[in-house]
Amino acid sequence: MSYVDEVYDLVVEKNPSQPEFHQAVKEVLESLRVVIEANEEKYRKDALLERLVTPERQILFRVPWVDDKGQVQVNNGFRVQFNSAIGPYKGGLRLHPSVNLGIIKFLGFEQIFKNSLTGLPIGGGKGGSDFDPKGKSDREVMAFCQSFITELHKYIGADTDVPAGDIGTGAREIGFMYGQYKRLTGLYEGVLTGKGLSYGGSLARTEATGYGLLYLTEEMLKCNGRDIKNKIVAVSGAGNVAIYAIQKAQQLGAKPVTCSDSTGWIYDPAGIDVALLKEVKEVKRARLSEYAAARPSAEYHEKKNGEHGVWSIKCDIALPCATQNELDLEDAKMLVANGCFAVAEGANMPTTMDATEYFQKNNVLFCPGKASNAGGVATSALEMSQNSERLSWTFKEVDSKLKDIMVNIFHSIDDASKQYGMLRNYVAGANIAGFLKVAEAMNAQGIV
Ligand code: NDP
Repeated sequence: MSYVDEVYDLVVEKNPSQPEFHQAVKEVLESLRVVIEANEEKYRKDALLERLVTPERQILFRVPWVDDKGQVQVNNGFRVQFNSAIGPYKGGLRLHPSVNLGIIKFLGFEQIFKNSLTGLPIGGGKGGSDFDPKGKSDREVMAFCQSFITELHKYIGADTDVPAGDIGTGAREIGFMYGQYKRLTGLYEGVLTGKGLSYGGSLARTEATGYGLLYLTEEMLKCNGRDIKNKIVAVSGAGNVAIYAIQKAQQLGAKPVTCSDSTGWIYDPAGIDVALLKEVKEVKRARLSEYAAARPSAEYHEKKNGEHGVWSIKCDIALPCATQNELDLEDAKMLVANGCFAVAEGANMPTTMDATEYFQKNNVLFCPGKASNAGGVATSALEMSQNSERLSWTFKEVDSKLKDIMVNIFHSIDDASKQYGMLRNYVAGANIAGFLKVAEAMNAQGIV
């Protein structure tokens, strides 16, 4: 049996009931096959893959907090410190009822390669809790965040592990966590990113993932003889990534016509009104039906299982920006039949493996999230640099660094795909380019 297959089987055996983690490992290892086979003897002797798929440390903890009725609630807390070969652990904290160890491990594993692709010195980690901030009062969210950090602060620090936001963790949650960290440690240091501008946050961090997604998409199209101008774009999600992806797509001359949330989706043939979308989702934290109620050109559709949602709309470019496995094979078939020629992932692993393969077989330009959504973590690393310098850069400076990073990421994955004979296979290109740097650092640092 090949080394890759052996290690994948081991992952399944040792990590039961973690399908998302198995999926992420499979996707990465499959595309690394050619690199692994070329170095199989050394990698096998050093157990490089076994070490790569095993987190350096997993912290699981209880998060007790008191709700507004005086009732004690208990949630599960997680931080997976996956790999620190190239820098301190870096990765977001997800607060969502679906969070479990397998989800955090899949996200942490992906994060290793994504962070490597940014070219910045950051290792891979991820964390979160099954706490749901939706419907909670500010005081309840604060109580949860303070309890969460009271335990987690023992394991994080500006030079060891620097968490950030993710689904459910926005500026409010980061603020509460930062305040509690400072109170417990007495340190005013860049231990969390995504902070508010008044206490060490970076300009352009809010926009970074969505903007970065579009910078990379524009470069991918340009290098394949296409122009983003006047293209119809289908976007899913209506959160941080989706909103700023829609905004930047418009600035680049494209026309985004859809967005979605967990209860329904919008088709707005006149083009999404970003100001209205922000008002509904960022200010009112309301459902998308309110967007349609305020916008005559928009149709609102309730989410129904088995329907294609935003992927049923005719578009040139699809940008899945909501959550994992939200675009499956049937959706992919529909997109291809409707003439979609490019897909770039804003969310983490939103496309199922069979859907990805279908896109690739049908010559759709497909960029995986670990490359195309790396702008968020890259700008988080820029926030760390500013905190270390005790300086703040202008929006323009950060945005222009972000653009350079995204263009460089595209070229490094494009080059890797060419070098290993897999032209335009950006999934393989991203995994290979991300892996090689981490493997070299692990090799140089001995068996640790
Ligand atoms: P948000 O919580 O801001 O937004 C998520 C959006 O997706 C919300 O509109 C949510 O709906 C919607 N959504 C969630 N689940 C579903 C579902 N099952 N079907 C349809 N819509 C759904 O998160 P982000 O925008 O920050 O993150 C989105 C994705 O991008 C995640 O995969 C995240 O890991 C990834 N990512 C985020 C980065 C960042 O910087 N924020 C960086 C890199 C990756 P509702 O409004 O109803 O909650």
